[in-house]
Amino acid sequence: YMPDGTDTSPQMIMEKLSTTYDEINREQNQTVRYYDEKIRKRKIREDLIMHAIEPALEAGEFEVYYQPKVSMKTRKITGAEALIRWNHDGKVVSPGEFIPICEKTGQVQKLDFYVLETVCRHIKEWLERGIEVVTVSVNFSKHHFVEDTVAEHINRVAEKWGIPKQHLEIEFTETAYIEGSRNLSSSINKLHGYGISASMDDFGTGYSSLSVLKHAPVDIVKIDRSFVQGLCGSAFDHSFVHLMVELCHSVGIRVCVEGLETTAELAALQPFGADYLQGFLLGHPEPAARFAPLFL
Ligand code: C2E
Ligand code: MG
Ligand code: MG
Repeated sequence: YMPDGTDTSPQMIMEKLSTTYDEINREQNQTVRYYDEKIRKRKIREDLIMHAIEPALEAGEFEVYYQPKVSMKTRKITGAEALIRWNHDGKVVSPGEFIPICEKTGQVQKLDFYVLETVCRHIKEWLERGIEVVTVSVNFSKHHFVEDTVAEHINRVAEKWGIPKQHLEIEFTETAYIEGSRNLSSSINKLHGYGISASMDDFGTGYSSLSVLKHAPVDIVKIDRSFVQGLCGSAFDHSFVHLMVELCHSVGIRVCVEGLETTAELAALQPFGADYLQGFLLGHPEPAARFAPLFL
């Protein structure tokens, strides 16, 4: 960042420096970055989103969608992933945009618990209507695992709604282990004690994948979409998926393959015997009112 004479306060200079620093961290292999118009605009957008989250929660602008997970063997829906959507000013803001911002500000904790509450409410409603309920997974950001009490909080919400715990699963990413360290494994053990299962999301995209598996006693590993995209063209990705299925199965972990879009990918996957499939090929994320009737 080069001060250009228009900056009037040290605070403004520090803010530009820190925004530029964030930008360097955002992209790999980037060591030098100059403050520019793009960074300025991104910062304005981030501030806008950050300040809009709380009012949006109050106004009920967040909605939970459900994407089916299908059994590879029976092709029946055996689970669903809860995915947050933000209906704002007549548009849908993608979680890919606002979740990273909320992770920076800490607001993600509130959002994740909002999703958990909504999921419990839906499950309760479905059970009351006699709809067959599958296990629903909820994404929990790595920020929760900095503390050791997240499992207790999750359990308290489930108890409040009085839903059978086997209907709940918590998804987290492998970076939760790197940053939350010890707490992640103890949190998973506590979740198991309550009867709630745990899965590792986006597996293969972090830096310590295999050692994480040794320390985090998960029930399910979700192999990231980036490997699925390479199933038909990349020998490495093909072998990676194959080996991961074998490794996980040999230690009693089930495997979900994420982001299946084509029948060619499905055909390439067929011999590996994964447990669950998730992707646009099998079903898009849908609002609760469109998801539940799939079981009627
Ligand atoms: P994720 O947890 O890995 O969720 C899967 C994402 O992949 C979802 O995007 C889903 O719509 C998308 N997807 C599923 N199948 C396919 C496919 O076949 N092709 C393609 N191209 N995409 C597919 P979405 O809903 O936009 O969410 C993006 C990410 O935002 C999620 O990745 C998750 O990391 C985060 N996220 C979403 N909801 C929550 C939440 O409630 N809490 C937290 N902490 N993070 C959330
Ligand atoms: Mg997920
Ligand atoms: Mg994922």
